[in-house]
Amino acid sequence: MHLFTHLTNLKSFLEINNRLDHKIAFIPTMGALHQGHVSLIEIGKKYADVTVCSIYVNPNQFNNKNDLSNYPRSLEKDAFKLETVHCDVLFVPVDEEIYPPGLDTEVSLNLGKMDLVMEGHFRPGHFKGMLQVVKRLLDLVNPHYLIMGQKDFQQFSLVQQMINQLHLPVKLIMAPTLRDFDGLALSSRNQRLTIKDRSISQVIYQSLLEIKSKLNLSSTEALEAEAMETLKLAGLKPEYVEIVDGYTLQKIVHPEKHEFIVACIAAWAGEVRLIDNIILKGNLA
Ligand code: AMP
Repeated sequence: MHLFTHLTNLKSFLEINNRLDHKIAFIPTMGALHQGHVSLIEIGKKYADVTVCSIYVNPNQFNNKNDLSNYPRSLEKDAFKLETVHCDVLFVPVDEEIYPPGLDTEVSLNLGKMDLVMEGHFRPGHFKGMLQVVKRLLDLVNPHYLIMGQKDFQQFSLVQQMINQLHLPVKLIMAPTLRDFDGLALSSRNQRLTIKDRSISQVIYQSLLEIKSKLNLSSTEALEAEAMETLKLAGLKPEYVEIVDGYTLQKIVHPEKHEFIVACIAAWAGEVRLIDNIILKGNLA
């Protein structure tokens, strides 16, 4: 595996591969890699000849300074994991390469209300920073395929919107969420959970499954309220439970009127903020 920290080295590598007409799959991450990330590389390998993984903890997408400073970092272990799955390139850029002074990297899009709900509501500025870094990385890597997880469903939807609106020449692929033995979605943040918080965190996925099993039996409002109660009773501090249209991300009332429906949860387990979601109906068209 090649490890590049400087753009010039990455660029020369990519130029050679482009000349050979190699297809490139790109997997952006913030490091502290787990099996979920590894599965994204494996998916990338199915689509493309070359897999490029980036590790960059983007300061611009953290609205909470503590969250940024507490974000786990483990570059050596990460590189080892990527080696074992035969990732071709690990790109670990420094801030100056991503945000060179004088270069305007901000992205402006018409997202309707997609970036104002759920994560957008509770983490103001998060998506602006996320789209900015994804756009910048796409400009640098210029991949044919971009592999991102369903785990961050709203992020995925917004990146798809950006690709559509800016006509970016890349195909976005959704990777399924990898889970621990009890259903908890794998996340770099899980390693910061205490033993007690780790054990109650499984209730997040259980609540999603419960919503799925009752979709047509109760009102969406009742299902959301019930899940909020279950999460609280377990000792979690939920921020939201929302049953939304999978395309617009807006709350729905009549499931029968929507083709694609997703339930999303964000909850604090002690000091750790966790998110998860489940597709209740349909799929990405
Ligand atoms: P992160 O490092 O948390 O920014 O995540 C990098 C990519 O990995 C994003 O596209 C995430 O959606 C994806 N991802 C995170 N957790 C999982 C998981 N448990 N299963 C599959 N993909 C994941």
